[in-house]
Amino acid sequence: MKYDSYMPVRLISGRGAVAADPSLFSRFGDRCLIVTGGVSAEKSGALGDLTETLGKTGVQYKVFSGVRPNPETSVCRAAGAEAAAFGARFIVGVGGGSPMDAAKAVAIYAANPSFEEADIYTRAVPAAALPVLLVGTTAGTGSEVTGVSVLTLSATGKKKSISGPDCYAAVSFCDASYTESAPWGVTLSTALDAFAHAVESRLASGANELSALYAERAIALIGPFLKTIASPALPEPSVRDALYTASIYAGLAINITGTCFPHTVGYYLTENRGVPHGLACIAFMPELLRRAQKYCPEKLGAVEGALGMNSEALAALLREGVRFGFEIGAPEAAAAAFPGTVKNFARSPGGFTEEDARAALAGFVSDFGV
Ligand code: NAP
Ligand code: FE
Repeated sequence: MKYDSYMPVRLISGRGAVAADPSLFSRFGDRCLIVTGGVSAEKSGALGDLTETLGKTGVQYKVFSGVRPNPETSVCRAAGAEAAAFGARFIVGVGGGSPMDAAKAVAIYAANPSFEEADIYTRAVPAAALPVLLVGTTAGTGSEVTGVSVLTLSATGKKKSISGPDCYAAVSFCDASYTESAPWGVTLSTALDAFAHAVESRLASGANELSALYAERAIALIGPFLKTIASPALPEPSVRDALYTASIYAGLAINITGTCFPHTVGYYLTENRGVPHGLACIAFMPELLRRAQKYCPEKLGAVEGALGMNSEALAALLREGVRFGFEIGAPEAAAAAFPGTVKNFARSPGGFTEEDARAALAGFVSDFGV
C-alpha cells in the first residue's frame, strides 16, 4: 500500500446539514458573497436554508447570481471585484458544479485585485484566496471535494481547469434533498458525470488502493440508477442520497488520479455543440471500455464487478439510455485540436494521442447513432 493523498475539506453530509451549526459560517467572518447560477439555488431550497442560517449569526451577505453552466473567467472576475467591494471575508458557492467552481475562482480574484482574467492560470500556488464554502445542488461533479475548478477562458471559449491547494473548499455541505428539484436531464447528465469520474479513475494509470476503493464504491452506488436510464423516471429520495454519496466518492477518486481522455474530448462537444458535461464525457465511454479491454483487463474486471454487469452490456445500456441527449449530428472531428501534451491522455489505458482523439470523435457517431 503506497499513496500520497491530500483532501483538506471539512465535509458535512446529510439532510439539514446547512442549518445544523451556524457557527460553521460565522467563524470565517462577518460578510460573505453568495455565488449562484440561475433559479436552482432558490428552487432547490438551498439558498433559503443558507440565508436563514446566516441570519441567525449576523453575517451580512450579498448574492451574485447568474453564473451560467461552464463558468466564464470574465464573470468570475466581475464577481471577485464585487466581493472585494462588499468587504466579503468568505465566498459561499450554491448550486451545481458551475457555481461551485465559479466560487473557487471568485475567491481567488477577490483576493488578487490586480489579476487580469488569464492570470488565474499562472498564479503562484497557493495564491491568496478567500475561504470558500460550498452547498451542492447536483449529484455529479464532486467539486465539493476536489482541488479543481473548471473554467471557460472568455477570450477563447475553451474550457480550462485550475487546480491546487487554493482550489479546495474549507467546508462543503452535501444535502441530497437539494438535488430533488433537478429535472430528468440534469439528474441523468450529472449522474453520468459522477459515473465517468469513477470509471475513468479506476482505469487511470495512477489508480491506487485508496482511489480504487472510492471509485468501486461510487460505481456500485450508481449502478442501480444506471440500470433504469432507458426508461426515465425521477429517482426516489433514497436513490438521490445514493447518487450524491457516489458523486462525492467519485470526486475523492479523481482527486487522487485525475480523469482520462473522455473528459478532455468531451469538452469539445460541450464547447462546440453545447452538450451538457456528463453526457459529453459518456459519449467516449464505449471507446474507453474497448481500450481497457485491450490494455488493462484486470482493472476493467474491477469496474464490471462493482457494477454487476459486463462492459458490452454497459455500453449497450449507455447507448440506449442516452441517445436522445445527442440530437447534434456528427461533430467536425477533423477540426478538433488538442494541442500539446494533455495529462488526461497520458494517463488513459494504453496512452492516447491527438489522432486517437479525432478518431474517438468520429467513432462517437457510430456508438450513439447520431
Ligand atoms: P451546472 O452546470 O452547475 O448546472 C447545469 C444546470 O442544472 C443549470 O441549468 C442549473 O440551473 C441546473 N440545476 C443545478 N442544480 C439544480 C437543481 N437542484 N434543481 C434544478 N436545476 C438544477 O451542472 P453540473 O453538471 O453540476 O456542473 C458542470 C460543471 O462542473 C462543468 O463546468 C464541469 O466541467 C464542471 N466539473 C467540475 C469538476 C471539479 O472537480 N471541480 C468535476 C467535473 C465537472 P441554474 O443555472 O438555475 O443553477
Ligand atoms: Fe466531470
